[in-house]
Amino acid sequence: MKHTSLFAGRAMVSPVPQPAGRPAMQSALARPVSCEGVGLHSGAPVRMTLAPAPAGTGIVFERTDRAGGRIAAVYDRVVDTRLGTTIENTHGVRVSTIEHLMSAFAGLGIDNAVVELSAGEVPIMDGSAAPFVRMIEAAGVATLGVPRRALRVLRPVTLRDGEKLAVLTPAEESVVECEISFASSAIGRQHLQFSGGAAAYIELVAGARTFGFAHEIAHLRKAGLALGGSLENAVVVDGDSIVNPEGLRSSNEFVRHKVLDAIGDLALAGGPILGRFRSVRGGHDLNNRILRTLFANPSAFEWVDLDGTASRAVPAGLGHELPARAAAAAFA
Ligand SMILES: [Zn+2]
Repeated sequence: MKHTSLFAGRAMVSPVPQPAGRPAMQSALARPVSCEGVGLHSGAPVRMTLAPAPAGTGIVFERTDRAGGRIAAVYDRVVDTRLGTTIENTHGVRVSTIEHLMSAFAGLGIDNAVVELSAGEVPIMDGSAAPFVRMIEAAGVATLGVPRRALRVLRPVTLRDGEKLAVLTPAEESVVECEISFASSAIGRQHLQFSGGAAAYIELVAGARTFGFAHEIAHLRKAGLALGGSLENAVVVDGDSIVNPEGLRSSNEFVRHKVLDAIGDLALAGGPILGRFRSVRGGHDLNNRILRTLFANPSAFEWVDLDGTASRAVPAGLGHELPARAAAAAFA
């Protein structure tokens, strides 16, 4: 793959994200941008600021309402995947429902950011990643003078759990392929393979909303969950019908959202993945467990720099160094 290195060695601010391809250099937001919303599960109001961060920071969450509230967004900080992806630091401070924001960062190629939150859950906004994309576009993207590191899959890694399947296989670009199958004819069987840069992500993935089933939502509410959920921020399926009066944003919005979630969850690898991820009936749990399985097999991957016109292997001894470790040490 070819990359231009026009911005190497100096910070360059562009008004919109890199349009396509896999930029060679790390990026960050050009300036802070804020929003307010509610948590999907807590129902609590929350103010969120996406702030610039230097190269090598990765994505870091910071709870402004709690001491010791810094949490690195890395796969081995994930403590709950039942209704979204929740991370926790060594002080027991948590942030939940990070996956749609993480997806927007990954989809637009943002490597570094500090996410300040006034409460423990990322605002659900409209249930998709589109509002976060608009925030990132409003902030602008700064290209930093440090090469991006990508995780290259070297050997297939497979995870099976009953009817669920997750597989990572080698590929020269990032590919995410999801298949879902539901009894409801409103969903049925849907399949989508996605690869491409920011423009394709914005067009095909970012706007797909989260979804739930009417009969499950009643149970969740009784358990004190989905308290912020409404037809304003989720597609609700009741039997074979869509409850939302406006209907779907696309005929395959459900599988598009599965891809959106997978992109966000896989971003917890700590860098873009050069490989093909395929999931069947997957979700946050499998997305996280495939990363844990990959990182438990050092011969299955390597870290590579994306500077210049070709990927360059990280010298032996550094290839298996997990950015998670460094980030955890810095922010624990
Ligand atoms: Zn989701």
